[in-house]
Amino acid sequence: MLDVNKIRADFPILSQKVNGKALVYFDNGATSQKPQVVIDAISKYYQEINANIHRGVHTLSQLATDAYEISRGKLQNHINAKFPHEVLFTSGTTHGINLVANGFASILKPGDEILVSAMEHHSNIVPWQMLCEKTGAILRVIPMNLNGELIMSEYDKLLSDKTKIVTVNHISNALGTVNPIKYMIDKAHEAGAAILIDGAQAVPHLKPDVQELNCDFYVFSGHKICGPTGVGILYGKEAWLNKLPPYQGGGEMIKEVTFEKTTYAELPHKFEAGTPNIAGGIVLGTAVDYMNEVGFDNIQQQELELLEYGTKRLLEIEGLKIFGTAAAKTSVISFNIEGIHPYDIGTIIDKLGIAVRTGHHCAQPIMDFFKIPGTIRASFAFYNTPEEIDVMVEAIKKAKVMLS
Ligand SMILES: *Cc1c(COP(=O)(O)O)cnc(C)c1O
Repeated sequence: MLDVNKIRADFPILSQKVNGKALVYFDNGATSQKPQVVIDAISKYYQEINANIHRGVHTLSQLATDAYEISRGKLQNHINAKFPHEVLFTSGTTHGINLVANGFASILKPGDEILVSAMEHHSNIVPWQMLCEKTGAILRVIPMNLNGELIMSEYDKLLSDKTKIVTVNHISNALGTVNPIKYMIDKAHEAGAAILIDGAQAVPHLKPDVQELNCDFYVFSGHKICGPTGVGILYGKEAWLNKLPPYQGGGEMIKEVTFEKTTYAELPHKFEAGTPNIAGGIVLGTAVDYMNEVGFDNIQQQELELLEYGTKRLLEIEGLKIFGTAAAKTSVISFNIEGIHPYDIGTIIDKLGIAVRTGHHCAQPIMDFFKIPGTIRASFAFYNTPEEIDVMVEAIKKAKVMLS
């Protein structure tokens, strides 16, 4: 069992007061808080080894390069990639998806199809729409049911020899649904299509095994797994990364440059143009070490308890409706209260120290599907407690009285 009080002591921000009240941080779906080891590792990098990587022969440059590559190895192990050069540092999920979508511009022909799901984050919709505009490819949408579950029989029907790539989130940020990605990956491959998994919302809760999943691409952000902002990972199968053209041109990604012709560097450097977020890349390894020390079994156990308790307590509030009631769900609860705008509840409970997200959660098509303007989303992390849920429920009851 997780000693939550001990864990909470690792996160200095959690003992802070906000608006004069003890902070209750339930916006983990937007970004996670950072443990002291991560905060320390950032300043240690700048205090002791700051230098540009893969460039200088001098000692600090070597130390920084080694630390960066060691971190890549940690991420490789974490997701069980076959090779370190299949693990690319990006600035985050959005960057990773754009990199792949851009690469597919050289592959797609007019009339080819791209499948996205009805519950994607905008960052897994818009890059594909831009790709369609560029190539004449067609975007098709895998529908969902009222529980917020993708309908697999419809997915099967949408797949055809026209499908070139399927892109779907592992877990929905707005509904918490855990999608049947293993099934979806196998089916995409049977149809001869590639598949990208947006793991941004999955990696805070589980350790993906990209070889077992057999996905072609898996992307996520560092800042949702206790790491810094501005760094993320794009896993791609070696064969795909060799096939796709580079995303950006510049330093570090070339073998040889003349004005007549440039040849590109080997993986992973081909996709890592320019000076990256060096500190971020190194410290992402620290964050992953921290999460593994806490242990994903412990994380899941704590979060399941919070999901069950939170669902039960929230449903005691009259007029409250939960959106996203899939059988397979993670610790995200999206809800509304009849007759009250989500923004109003969010504003009042913020005054009571409670941080939740209100709005469309960068997933407007989901809100359109349920015909609502938005929801209130409480997303729990392993450092949250049932007592904090009690505080939120009392605050919502108060807000409800004030607003009705
Ligand atoms: C947060 C999130 C993103 C975007 O991540 P960035 O860090 O903003 O690039 C994409 N997809 C899902 C499911 C997310 O939760």
